[in-house]
Amino acid sequence: MTRVAFLGLGAIGAPMASHLSKSPFQLTVWNRTRATAEAFGSEHGASVAATPADAARGAEFVITCLPSSREVAEVLEGPRGIMEGLEADAVLIDCTSGDPAASRGFAANLNQRRASFMDAPVSGGVAGAKAGILTVMCGGEPELVERARHVLEAFGKKIVLCGPVGSGHAVKAVSNALLAVQVWSTAEALAALTKLGISGAVALDVINASAGRSNASQNLFPERVLTRAFPRTFRLALLDKDIGIATKLAAEAGAAVPLIDLAARLIHEARLELGEEADHVEAAKVVESRAGTIIM
Ligand code: NDP
Repeated sequence: MTRVAFLGLGAIGAPMASHLSKSPFQLTVWNRTRATAEAFGSEHGASVAATPADAARGAEFVITCLPSSREVAEVLEGPRGIMEGLEADAVLIDCTSGDPAASRGFAANLNQRRASFMDAPVSGGVAGAKAGILTVMCGGEPELVERARHVLEAFGKKIVLCGPVGSGHAVKAVSNALLAVQVWSTAEALAALTKLGISGAVALDVINASAGRSNASQNLFPERVLTRAFPRTFRLALLDKDIGIATKLAAEAGAAVPLIDLAARLIHEARLELGEEADHVEAAKVVESRAGTIIM
């Protein structure tokens, strides 16, 4: 049995962890709100740890899936944090969509303790996590990714080594910058067509058989905007964080990204307007209100 600890049972963390509750894995979970961990433990037969240190004790692989690298730092290095319980030779797999520079710091810290770090953010949403078919983008040593492969394959279908520590986080941030551009631009396009008297359903039917199609037009808008369902699966605040990381990385690299910079500003404005709990697709509501129409 491979002993795994999973910390952070949020919207995507919980379905990811559920795949690690079965043989050949022996799972211990920790969550800031203990009731969530207790409910998960009863449903999936996992042990519940009182602290991050207790969760890490005895684990070969410790997985974190938290909002950002700031929370990872707290849970890793804070009082009763992972560091206090981490075994020498353990591997910390950070599935948070985090910040490459912070991850390089975590890796250096862990290496001093003879433990190892890899970033392994995911894509595919809550549905992909439930189905165990996420894309996992890894940053770290190739041997480490191979050692962790069976763990990553429990929830991932496509596992790609992107480069050294931080590379997975960089690719994830940039991929989500594209998601932000797609959501915002698709909302603008459909709002404009609605105002021209063309229904969103007809427009999407054509666009999805044409060159303008994207994940937003093929999946998000038909399922969430036209239906007005707007399920809360991935917070707009997290998308704002991701595109913020992407613009910071581009600036550090000296690469001009004016379109992504603009999308970052618009997404941030939408977050301020809609609040911390809004879903990312609800950004379309801000576009609608600015355009003075509802996409239907
Ligand atoms: P949620 O907001 O649903 O969950 C966040 C988790 O982090 C909860 O378990 C929460 O605990 C915990 N947490 C928050 N703050 C702290 C803290 N200060 N200390 C300890 N624990 C804390 O986020 P998601 O599950 O949606 O996202 C997790 C990561 O995965 C993010 O980096 C996100 O960008 C990424 N991601 C999310 C996707 C999605 O579809 N949702 C898709 C791909 C990547 P508590 O229960 O106590 O609030």
